[in-house]
Amino acid sequence: MNFELTKEQEMTKKMVRDFADGVIRPRAVEIDEKAEFPKDIFDEMGKLGLLGIPFPEEYGGSGGDTLTYALAVEEIGKVCGSTGLSYAAAVSLGASPIYYFGTEEQKQKYLVPLAKGEGLASFGLTEPNAGSDAGGTQTRAELKGDQYVINGEKCWITNAEYARSITVTAVSGKREDGKNIISAFIVPKDTPGMRITSPYEKMGVRGSNTSEIILEDVEIPKENVLGDPNGGFKQFLYTLDGGRISIAALALGIAQASLDKALAYAKERKQFGQPISKFQAIQFKLADIAMEVELARNMVFKAAWLKDQGKPFSKEAAFAKLYASETAFRSANQAIQIHGGYGYMREYEVERFLRDAKLLEIGEGTSEIQRMVIARQLGC
Ligand SMILES: Cc1cc2nc3c(=O)[nH]c(=O)nc-3n(C[C@H](O)[C@H](O)[C@H](O)COP(=O)(O)OP(=O)(O)OC[C@H]3O[C@@H](n4cnc5c(N)ncnc54)[C@H](O)[C@@H]3O)c2cc1C
Repeated sequence: MNFELTKEQEMTKKMVRDFADGVIRPRAVEIDEKAEFPKDIFDEMGKLGLLGIPFPEEYGGSGGDTLTYALAVEEIGKVCGSTGLSYAAAVSLGASPIYYFGTEEQKQKYLVPLAKGEGLASFGLTEPNAGSDAGGTQTRAELKGDQYVINGEKCWITNAEYARSITVTAVSGKREDGKNIISAFIVPKDTPGMRITSPYEKMGVRGSNTSEIILEDVEIPKENVLGDPNGGFKQFLYTLDGGRISIAALALGIAQASLDKALAYAKERKQFGQPISKFQAIQFKLADIAMEVELARNMVFKAAWLKDQGKPFSKEAAFAKLYASETAFRSANQAIQIHGGYGYMREYEVERFLRDAKLLEIGEGTSEIQRMVIARQLGC
């Protein structure tokens, strides 16, 4: 067993850390305050090849692995949860399904520009009445001649307003046993009938774009069905398994940032004539956070490694997502506690970490759903 990163992984990590520290960190407070999607930062990230890390060079990517991509998400997550979420969603939810399931033609047409960083993509699964139970989608796609006509509504879709294509799921027919067939459709931006608005005022990840999508008689050619028309359900389950590793990596970034800030503050802040880091009550908090951050990191790395080896990784991705997101929330909460009243003030940033971390216990499957996935894998 080798816990050391490869030279390439170390290089990518350093490159992303330098970019995050130099370009994103100075803007993080403002991105949150103004709830402004940092489009220019994503243009830069595209030029650096960050949007193509886990895709092969033949599709415009840099041929990295899942672990390298997770390292990049963690580094960005350390400085800005909003940018981290939009980055993770663009790669894991926007581009990846096209890479996993798309036909060669779809990969050339839609994946290549995404991997080259020429734009973002989104994945529209959630609906007002179909969240955890995403198979209960009410959006319908009806085949008329060579066109599918899609009608329905999607909510809380990350990056949709800035996406060049959106993959949406819809019921496209019935199986012999009466159950719905779900298919996924690649809908290019500006397709008539698709309206995208961003009406939400969010608690955290405020600079990540979150959109509502209305589909009214949206006509899509048959060739835009993502891979197997009967495979939509399996496709989104696999996509979410992969996405969970990136959400876990983002949570790890927030947890690590909480530890770094809390430790620095504890060494600096004096009460009763000494730094508060000398009090055992504070030391125990820091020790717990440090341990949990390291355990979360090990789980993220293992899930990413399993995926890269082509081995089953669904349970481990759920472990990583569940543990890392709850660690991020606890770490941010304790970081506020260690900062005392200052931690409650915006300028110390740790309250932002808490608000951003909360989303990670909800998106891409809530903590309850992760426990269900794990229990199912245990044979319950
Ligand atoms: C900022 C943000 C970005 C998002 N981005 C995307 C995106 O890009 N694409 C996309 O498709 N979706 C996206 N989502 C949606 C997200 O994935 C869902 O919110 C999430 O899956 C939960 O669904 P829900 O909100 O409808 O909650 P519900 O499913 O209504 O759940 C409500 C509560 O009930 C619990 N619950 C539900 N079912 C069970 C059960 N069987 N057993 C026990 N407890 C249960 C849940 O755990 C939760 O606590 C985003 C959401 C947010 C907030």
